[in-house]
Amino acid sequence: MKCPVCGEKYNKLDYQMLSRHLAQNCERNDTPHLEFVKYYLPGSNWLASDFTNEVKEVFTFEKGHLSDWIVSKLIQRLFQDKPHPFIESMQKPKKSIFQGYAIEYSYYLKQRTRSFSFAMAKSDKEDVQKLEAKLVFPELADDSQLQSQRVLLEDMAESVGIPSDTLESSMPLPPTLHSVRLWNNIAENEHWIEIMASLNFMDLVYSPSLVKAGAKLPYFAPSVLENEWIPDEVKKFLSHSVEYLGPIAEQSLEMGTKYAEELGQTEDLQSVFLRSLEAFDRHLQARVTRAKQFESK
Ligand SMILES: [Zn+2]
Repeated sequence: MKCPVCGEKYNKLDYQMLSRHLAQNCERNDTPHLEFVKYYLPGSNWLASDFTNEVKEVFTFEKGHLSDWIVSKLIQRLFQDKPHPFIESMQKPKKSIFQGYAIEYSYYLKQRTRSFSFAMAKSDKEDVQKLEAKLVFPELADDSQLQSQRVLLEDMAESVGIPSDTLESSMPLPPTLHSVRLWNNIAENEHWIEIMASLNFMDLVYSPSLVKAGAKLPYFAPSVLENEWIPDEVKKFLSHSVEYLGPIAEQSLEMGTKYAEELGQTEDLQSVFLRSLEAFDRHLQARVTRAKQFESK
């Protein structure tokens, strides 16, 4: 298993070593480890005693399946009591949030295609290869019958005042850069199951089934698609996410968790998912920060 903060490797199910590692890093005031403990283990006392059981608890899913655990962690982080500021912004969006979305997502989208290509090439399972192909080919094959997300993004950006050469040449904010660096590292160095957990699973945010599973808000309010001032290109981009990417994300969850259990890699999948979720949270925050920069222009 691996540390869900820095990826350090431990023997399978060695929660004791993992909890010691977390405690040691908290003791030396390492911010990412401290934040993890504060968020997932609130109230636990890492200074006083061994907190192996509490750490183990984070990974436990006695009721339900591994896929339910993934969905519940995603909802808890982005859609529950205190929904993420980006999700909040998408309920009654202003033009600036689409501008921030376009710039920050543009960089992320390139990494997605690269990560999914790695997963496709590394996996020996045909169903996984086919699933990743559905995400890779529309972006890279000029004659693909499927709609390219890149093209949809460029049209969306253009409709809110960002020409495609600006989109291409803009550098993202540091949190997006940092997150993309992590995803690239996972893509290049880790098992395909972990690549799926790091990026395919993030697309679950588009899935309408999250609301049924307890999300307080959808990825964007349905009224956005009826709102008159919002350009058709924005609506098309958003609809594609829900209609095309959402179902693929659900399939990836089913496949990824099934193979992780078959191959005995459940905890690795869980760790990398938590690590990636944190990176994704920061990337979403960057979209909001970027939107504010547009507002103040
Ligand atoms: Zn660590």
